[in-house]
Amino acid sequence: MDKLNHHFFISSGVAGGIPIGCIITNEEETNNFREGVKLLCECFPEKCCLLQNGPLIVMSDDDLKKREVLSEIWLNSTYLLCQFHVLKAVWQWLMNSENKILKEHHQELYFSFKSLMYAETEMQLKELLQNMLDNNTVRKYDKFIIYLSKLFSKKQLWCTYHRKMVLTRGNNTTNYVESLFKVLKETILGRVKAFSLVQLLDFIVTKFEKYLHSRYLDFSFGLYNKKLVKRFLPDDKGIIQNIRSLNKDNTYFEIDHHFVDLESSICTCFVGMNGKLCKHLSAVILKQNKQSTFVYSLESRKLMYEVGYWKKIGFK
Ligand SMILES: [Zn+2]
Repeated sequence: MDKLNHHFFISSGVAGGIPIGCIITNEEETNNFREGVKLLCECFPEKCCLLQNGPLIVMSDDDLKKREVLSEIWLNSTYLLCQFHVLKAVWQWLMNSENKILKEHHQELYFSFKSLMYAETEMQLKELLQNMLDNNTVRKYDKFIIYLSKLFSKKQLWCTYHRKMVLTRGNNTTNYVESLFKVLKETILGRVKAFSLVQLLDFIVTKFEKYLHSRYLDFSFGLYNKKLVKRFLPDDKGIIQNIRSLNKDNTYFEIDHHFVDLESSICTCFVGMNGKLCKHLSAVILKQNKQSTFVYSLESRKLMYEVGYWKKIGFK
């Protein structure tokens, strides 16, 4: 039996990941994968820009071949790497005996790279890099410096500083994908790997889909663990009284020297500038009683009801 790989395209949301497409390929896969993506795009209606014109952001692990295929098809998307997978790759490189890094230096080199990843400004990034290159442990390993320079040449794909203005809504890893894969492998496939193509397809479009539908409906009915949606629950943090509206439509606000655009759900503070729910945006949403699909609200529950039932509903 050929070894089969399945590639999911998953959109993040308040109720977790939502699979929007799946491609199953065999091992000789680059061309098959390319054809699969083209077929997937054709499945979506012309008006739907999600896959027709490409997603706004594509976040993946460091599979260069797949990323190249996607960037040929979706020219306008912004491509990012999952920070967890980058760190994992660095750790594996350090552990690889061929690279001859002494065991007692693994952690020091790993954490110095990790600090680079989370740099918040260009100046901080430059300082951290210079400190790293001046570090006596780093200077012992020419091979690590070469590896580091290769990683640094594509820093816009993994460094926090470079995604400040990218609308990631606070997603820097592919955790949504990992979580759904865990469900698929453990709950749906029962950790069995020997499936034929037909069996695998059947499990994905029947059992897995049924699981997802009930999950989204549970969310829409409020049958959901609130801890899972904690990062999407608005909280005023005692600053709600500091809000000042800046336009008559009440869509633009100033709060504690930061500016919140309610329509696009973005704040000018460091946490909120890529669309993550910061304390300022939270307070404004609560004050204006804004219904949004970005937070746990009636609007997001309604949306997940529609996804779960596959139909639009008319209630308000
Ligand atoms: Zn903010």
